[in-house]
Amino acid sequence: MSRRRQIYEGKDKVIFEGPESGTIVQYFKDDAYTSNNKKSGTIIGKGVINNRISEYFMTRLGEIGIPTHFVKRLNMREQLVREVEIIPLAVVIRNISAGSIAKRLSIPEGTTLPRTIVEFKYKSSDLGDPLVSEDHITAFGWANPNELDEMMQLSLRINDFLCGLLLGVEIRLVDFRIEFGRHYNQNDEMNIILADEISPDSCRLWDAKTNKRMDKDRFRQDMDGIAEAYQEVAQRLGILPESIPRIHQGPKLMQ
Ligand code: C5P
Repeated sequence: MSRRRQIYEGKDKVIFEGPESGTIVQYFKDDAYTSNNKKSGTIIGKGVINNRISEYFMTRLGEIGIPTHFVKRLNMREQLVREVEIIPLAVVIRNISAGSIAKRLSIPEGTTLPRTIVEFKYKSSDLGDPLVSEDHITAFGWANPNELDEMMQLSLRINDFLCGLLLGVEIRLVDFRIEFGRHYNQNDEMNIILADEISPDSCRLWDAKTNKRMDKDRFRQDMDGIAEAYQEVAQRLGILPESIPRIHQGPKLMQ
């Protein structure tokens, strides 16, 4: 790990002071926890792959005009990002029933939802990130109505784009969780921008043909082949770092 000044250590990442003011460095760890902290472990190489996958998604989203905190990848495990004032909400975007909505509303897992559903959760590990309404959010001042509208609109654009991108490599984007922050420019104007990460830790990714889970649910549900599934996502997107051995190698060309 680098000698940067540490600001904060989270479950999956360590945050360091950046080289210039207004920037921070995200270091991606291999540690894995379930949200209730009942299970913890290590997924070898996860941090390296998530750093790459998140870089890839953020860069592609930036290209279509989604404002993101991503500046550049620094090395295998670190990326430079813009410092934001984090909005204490996790935004969950769902296309297909799975996970907590499947349980909460008894919708069989795998059911396509009538339309994309956006949920807000209040970020508090002590409370287990409870689902909150727009009224909670504005009443408690976590975000104002304009910011909420902006987050909704950005979330739907992000979802549309990522669904298409992933379907192109035969992966269905079942659901995902993102975070936004307030970014102030030199004139002190505020913009809502996409922050944190987008990776198999924060998305449900199913193989389009077989529904094979290619995300953190493999860890949550004690399935094997977790690191291989993350690698396969990176491989399909064409971004597997060469220094990581490919586990599923295709047939070798004989000379
Ligand atoms: O568990 P639930 O169905 O509410 O999760 C919705 C989405 O949020 C999933 O894609 C899951 O991977 C993601 N998630 C996350 N971090 C958590 C909990 C869920 O990224 N702590």
